[in-house]
Amino acid sequence: MAADMQMPLGGGTAVGSPVHSRSGAPDLAAAGFTDGDCMLACDSCGQLVLLPSPEPDGRHHCPRCGELLRRDHDEPLTTPLALSIGAWLLGVITLASPLLSIRLLGRYRDSTPLSGARFFLEDGAAPLALLLVATVMMAPLLRLTLRIAVLSGLLMFRSPQRMAPRMVALLRWHDRLGAWCMPEIFLVGGIVAYVRLTTMADVQIGPAAYGLFAFVVTTLVADALFEPQSIWHALNAAEDPAPFLAGSPPQSCPYCRRLAFLPPGAPCPRCGTPLRSRKPDSVARSWALVTAAAIAYVPANLLPVMTLIRLGHAESHTIMGGVAAFAENGFWPLAVIVFVTSVLFPLLKLAGLSAMLLHVSRPSGDRAWIYTRLYSLIEALGRWSMIDVFIVAVLIGLLRFDAAASVVAGPGGVFFGAVVVLTMLAARAFDPRLLWDAGTGQAAGPSGGRR
Ligand SMILES: [Zn+2]
Ligand SMILES: [Zn+2]
Repeated sequence: MAADMQMPLGGGTAVGSPVHSRSGAPDLAAAGFTDGDCMLACDSCGQLVLLPSPEPDGRHHCPRCGELLRRDHDEPLTTPLALSIGAWLLGVITLASPLLSIRLLGRYRDSTPLSGARFFLEDGAAPLALLLVATVMMAPLLRLTLRIAVLSGLLMFRSPQRMAPRMVALLRWHDRLGAWCMPEIFLVGGIVAYVRLTTMADVQIGPAAYGLFAFVVTTLVADALFEPQSIWHALNAAEDPAPFLAGSPPQSCPYCRRLAFLPPGAPCPRCGTPLRSRKPDSVARSWALVTAAAIAYVPANLLPVMTLIRLGHAESHTIMGGVAAFAENGFWPLAVIVFVTSVLFPLLKLAGLSAMLLHVSRPSGDRAWIYTRLYSLIEALGRWSMIDVFIVAVLIGLLRFDAAASVVAGPGGVFFGAVVVLTMLAARAFDPRLLWDAGTGQAAGPSGGRR
């Protein structure tokens, strides 16, 4: 069967599935495949797409669902390497520098970005201490370190292909850490906490505030210029376009998106990860995580996330109490930010994921495109719910004058942190390609995730 070609859109060309010649082998020439092209399966909808050789400033989208599949850059290795080294240095210096200082009742204190971790531990909220250190320091710095190691290895070694297995392991961790890097969310949380503190005391901004801003901007630019597909291209310039075993369906690598016509479970010819057409047991795992998050959402909203002590008088605040306090003081934009990220986003995530899980269990109409957009939105915005945890972290890290004036972490924060982490894990466990399978009535594949 000749390949079913569709009109190219944004650089990617849709290819019918499976693409087989009379002999049964994938007919890549009929699909317009030339040297330097690469075929991959879209992460979001499973569509097979032919991408051309890298071209200046090329952006290649999936013709079926619109997902960005690859960005081409003029300097795919040196520019991201230089920016990543700069970001790493900024991060190390910033995280050890003073963030805010406060004068109250004749006393003085200052805090670094991670001071809150110590007081989370003292207040019996160890999971939040771990979450703060992991998302603001460990994940971002480790991810930059891994990227620097891979990029410098590719530039320094004459035949980096020999190092491929080790580089693949480093890149896999680089990919996994991506969602857990949150310095930009901490920066916004810090600004909200600063505004709140200025209503109570004389608060000064320290060098880490400016350093954090520079760290966030440099990291975001380095992220935007780093394209993992360029690394695969440099490591495997002469690889077989689409390895083939007679009678095998197209299998997509869950990690590097490499396509191969090999049996389910066979190792990816590029990175060695077992090939799966769909994430295993994704619906069951996603339902379990959504249910756990929904249960944790109740105490997260009913219990106080922090207690404010002023002159011996204690005043506990739930998440909605914090929103009300901003509104009472006239900080309406901040009240809206906290309400949207801490109350609305978790609800949207729970409702959206539940709707998608119900849709793939009982397909009703073709809503795959809308649900795929909603899924991308949930993945991109879901992590911003962490703002509330970071606001409390900055407040308890600075305002600590015993009974005179202190902020103490409350039990609601741990449940709220659990909601954010569980919904993020639920979104990652879900396989959006099942939405398209549901719309077309296809089976989920040999290793599919349907229950
Ligand atoms: Zn797609
Ligand atoms: Zn792979």
